[in-house]
This record gives sequence, structure tokens and C-alpha cells, in this order.
Amino acid sequence: MAKVNRHYRKLSAGYLFPEIGRRIKNFQQENPQLKVHRLGIGNTTEPLTPSIVAGLRDGADRLAAAETYTGYGDEQGEESLREALARFYGKQGVSLDKDEIFISDGAKPDAGNIQSIFSADNLVAFQDPAYPVYVDSNVIAGRSGPYNSEQGNYGGFFYMACNSENGFIPEPPPDKVDLLYLCSPNNPTGAVATHRELQNFVDYAREQKAVIVFDASYAEFIADPDLPRSIYEVDGAKECAVEINSFSKSAGFTGVRLGWAIVPQSLVCEDCEPGELHRAWLRRQTTFFNGASNIAQRGGLAVLSEKGREECSALISYYMQNAALIREGLLKTGLTVYGGVNAPYLWLRAPGGLSSWEFFDKLLYEAQVVGTPGSGFGPSGEGYFRLSAFGRREDIEEAVKNIQDKLKL
Ligand SMILES: *Cc1c(COP(=O)(O)O)cnc(C)c1O
Repeated sequence: MAKVNRHYRKLSAGYLFPEIGRRIKNFQQENPQLKVHRLGIGNTTEPLTPSIVAGLRDGADRLAAAETYTGYGDEQGEESLREALARFYGKQGVSLDKDEIFISDGAKPDAGNIQSIFSADNLVAFQDPAYPVYVDSNVIAGRSGPYNSEQGNYGGFFYMACNSENGFIPEPPPDKVDLLYLCSPNNPTGAVATHRELQNFVDYAREQKAVIVFDASYAEFIADPDLPRSIYEVDGAKECAVEINSFSKSAGFTGVRLGWAIVPQSLVCEDCEPGELHRAWLRRQTTFFNGASNIAQRGGLAVLSEKGREECSALISYYMQNAALIREGLLKTGLTVYGGVNAPYLWLRAPGGLSSWEFFDKLLYEAQVVGTPGSGFGPSGEGYFRLSAFGRREDIEEAVKNIQDKLKL
């Protein structure tokens, strides 16, 4: 008799985006003449750049001739791509061996799967609010108690509250936890951790023999040269941190699918020697995953070429100019705005003590702008609101103008 994985029943209803869709639909039915501007989702809108398209075409062309055709590749990812990534990190002063890099089909799958190499009884800490896959994958793996709908959290997890008082970067937990998820630049708050703040976490993790899962998916959006783009810029991080990253946001690969995880040889935990976690991840990937698309990996090589890097940095500038337009436009209205400087997300304080959902309705009905209620990312997100800088310029400009002209503050 088959039995379902009962932990799925604990998951809080994933109603955030369906509920947003429902409210937009209602609004449009009542106001068919009004145009709605969507600044809600973290999805890229600008086309792939020319040299990257050429790389992808080259990947497809290779498959068209017997001499260059390839089937399954190296399960850890094409060696040339791992070498190119190691060089890319090298330029930032981070030295990695190509064998510490695992190519994948994206940062979200890696963020969800990495927990499987750790014991089911690990105590897990999350930034609150957070990108949902960290919490949900650990619920499914059975590390949580039941969901508490009043508090909007799960029993058995440790939530590190991110708020305006701590600049949305929390302190390490006061007591021992085993696994910690950090995301910087942060989705949804747009906050970026400094070297000092990351060093605090790394020191904590080494002392507790804990492991940090560091999501650096937005590293390329950091303009400030003093801010760390990789946790390995911090001393000791290779002993206690896994880093995941992706070409999704920085090169427009949201639909192409290509990412990577770094599991250093020297990574340790409470009951294992250096090398064991690295081997466990290799085993996990070779067992459950047959490698990223060879076409996508050719595209990834093009992203890392000099030309590709130039083109992507123009792409990122486009989005970051959007972020600046939103930020400056909204600050003028008197709204309290965080983020949007070294990250493509802006995190607003809902004005007048409104809840996240109340502000969602106000913004939609008065200004026809859609964002994402902060409460959808965790209990500490209540009273906040996320706007995304991914979008077309004209749309962003109209949205900002609507907020300035029509929102009653
Ligand atoms: C968009 C995003 C990702 C990207 O995931 P992919 O699977 O590579 O597309 C990962 N982490 C965060 C925090 C994100 O916002």
C-alpha cells in the first residue's frame, strides 16, 4: 500500500501568486479601460544578447553534425564551463578548483535539493522574509513541525527576522542551529550583506560546525566594489558554506536554465571529514540528475566570455536604471523605500500602518500597479511590499508616474 509523503500536507497553501492573479482579474473586470502595470514578479524581460545567442546557436549546430555531436556530457558539467567559472571567481580573488563547481539547471533546483545531503534531524534557520524554496524544501524533507497559520511560520524552524532595525540583515542565531540559508543580494528585501556581516555568519558556522547555504543569484547586480559577491571572499567560508548561483537573472537565462553550486572540498559538518559533503553532492547529482543541457552550457560559456560579460553588464544596467527610477520616483512621494541599489528588488514599507495585502489593493485600485505583498515571503514581511525592477522601461515609467499622480498618500 503506497503512502503519500505526509510532509507535503504541512505546506502552507501556495496561494500568493494565484491570489494576486485573482485580484488583478477582478480589478480588470471592473475596470476594463485601465492598464495594469506589473512590477510584481522576478522574471526577466529583456532578450538574450547577441554573443550569447551565438553561443546557444553554436551549441545547437554542434548537435547537427556527427563529428561534433555529443550526448550525455560530464555529469558535473562541461569541463570548459567549470574552468571558465573558476577563472571568473579567480578574478574576484576567490580561488576554486573546477571540481568544486557543479553545473546545474538552475539555482532554484540546487537550493531545493542541497538539503538532501544533510541529516533529517538538522535544525534549520532561515532569513525571514525569504525566497520560498529554502523553507518549503525543508518542510518536504520533514525537518519542520506543523504550519502555524496565525503566526505564518512552521514549528521547529528558526526564523532570523529581517527588519528595518537590522537593515534586513540578521545576526546569527543566539543558539545552535545546524543549517542556515542566506541570500545576498536579497530577494525580496534588496538588502546586501557586507563582508563583516558575512564574517559573523561564517565565524558562527565554524564555531557550531553548522553549514551555510549561500544564494548569490543576484551577485552580478552589486555595483558597490566594497560589497562581497561571493561568500568565499570571507575567511573560513570554504569550510562552512555552499554557494549557489545562476545565469537566470544576470544573463536572462530564466527560460534557458543554467546554474551552478559550489561545494568545496574542505566543507565540513559536525560528524564528517572534509570531502564527504562534496562527495555526497556529487553522488546526489549523478544519481538524480543527468547534467545540464549541452546547448545551455555553450550559452553559459558565451556569458563568461569578455564580450558576453560586457553585454550582460549592459543588461544589468538596464534593470538597475529601472530600479533607480522606481526608487527615486517613490522616495519623492514620501514612501519609505529600501533596496534597489545593489539589487533589482525594492522593499517598501506599506504606508499608514496598512498590511501588505491592504497596500496591494490600494496600489492596484488607485495607481494600477501590481507588486508582491511582503507577507507572502514570511511573517516578518508583513507590512512590507516588494517591487521588482525586471520590466520594460516604458512600463516602469508609467507605473512610477501613476504612483506619483494617483496614489493617495
Ligand atoms: C530567481 C532566483 C533564483 C533563480 O533560480 P533559477 O532556478 O536559477 O532560475 C534563485 N534564488 C533566488 C533568490 C531567486 O530570486
